[in-house]
Amino acid sequence: MAKTLPDKPLRPATLLVRGGQNRTELGETSEALFLTSGFVYDDAKQAEDTFLGTAQHFQYSRFGNPTVQALENKLALLEGAEACRATATGMAAVHAAMLSHLKTGDRVVASRALFGSCYWIVSTLLPRYGIETVFVDGSDLAGWQDALSVQTAMVLLETPSNPMLEIVDLRAVCDLAHQAGALVVVDNVFATPLLQRPLEFGADIVVYSATKHFDGQGRVLGGAVLGTKKWVEEVLQPFIRNTGPAISPFNAWVILKGLETLHLRVPAMCASAQRVAEFLDGRPEVERVHYPTLPSHPQRELAMRQMSAGGTVVTFDVAGGKDATFAFLDALRLVDVSNNLGDSKSLVTHPATTTHMRVGAEERARLGITDGSVRLSIGLEDVEDLLEDLAAALDAAGRAQPRQAAE
Ligand SMILES: *Cc1c(COP(=O)(O)O)cnc(C)c1O
Repeated sequence: MAKTLPDKPLRPATLLVRGGQNRTELGETSEALFLTSGFVYDDAKQAEDTFLGTAQHFQYSRFGNPTVQALENKLALLEGAEACRATATGMAAVHAAMLSHLKTGDRVVASRALFGSCYWIVSTLLPRYGIETVFVDGSDLAGWQDALSVQTAMVLLETPSNPMLEIVDLRAVCDLAHQAGALVVVDNVFATPLLQRPLEFGADIVVYSATKHFDGQGRVLGGAVLGTKKWVEEVLQPFIRNTGPAISPFNAWVILKGLETLHLRVPAMCASAQRVAEFLDGRPEVERVHYPTLPSHPQRELAMRQMSAGGTVVTFDVAGGKDATFAFLDALRLVDVSNNLGDSKSLVTHPATTTHMRVGAEERARLGITDGSVRLSIGLEDVEDLLEDLAAALDAAGRAQPRQAAE
């Protein structure tokens, strides 16, 4: 008989290594990769019983797959959620969580500072189907209160937000949302389940891009939706089963391998991010550093109530506008210019000309994104090498700053 896990709560590191595995009778050490689209039945009766729901058997990998299920079980244990469904991308997870639940005539309230494609779903896609959508500034509790003073179906928020690392008060917003009859969906990508567990503050659904820290090594795309067993089975599963955002078992397997080191990678990245934030804070070429645990962060206390560390991303504003900022980016020798994050390689993004180009200048101004804003995702390199790379590139930015800005 296969061993089962001890019948008591296990700690995150143990769950990341051990949780969710369903060993076959062959006794493999690592999770088995079931790279198969379908499954066969012993006989016609077993097929009938499976479709009736009276027998448990995998049918088709669009509905479920043993490798994908191992990933779902591990993520549910880690999050403290009753159920999980994995998807092909983070956006498929956000889309399925929202569209499976919403219908024409519903109302959605969302924080303004959302990942670009999440913003597009709320601002552009949902209204097409007759769903009313309202944006609020995530840190403005009075704004949430106002927006949630009428019946609402769903709230979508991200905390810390991308890219300015603004914090939403999870407990307060969940309470307001529930009074308005809304289900709260939290995009927890920036925090990861190791730093913040939204369900403990009242959230109903948590979504992830597994592309980021879960894989964490830049290989595959993936996503996940977590919630109650009832909602996942009755609302989400029929939508996923019939619309097909299924993740490849191969990608699920890669993410399972990535998760085994999440508890080593994320704290190491956070420790380096803290060092980098403090270093940048003291540099004359930097106008402002945004990092949740810095004393200068306006919501530091709230961040520390909800999160156990500041996260793996540091955002900062380079003095001297776009030219000086591009000079800084181009002078980096170690850190790559990219639009991804949560990777073992440190990556840097200029939101105004890439991820947030399409939202327009007015919306960027409202979000606090300037032409000097830089989003830095800290990887696993030696932090001293990162600091030296940043220092040399800031020297280059200082030389590129127009004279007026330097005076
Ligand atoms: C990357 C990301 C997504 C989308 O995930 P994909 O895997 O790229 O589809 C959604 N939300 C946040 C906060 C992200 O960083």
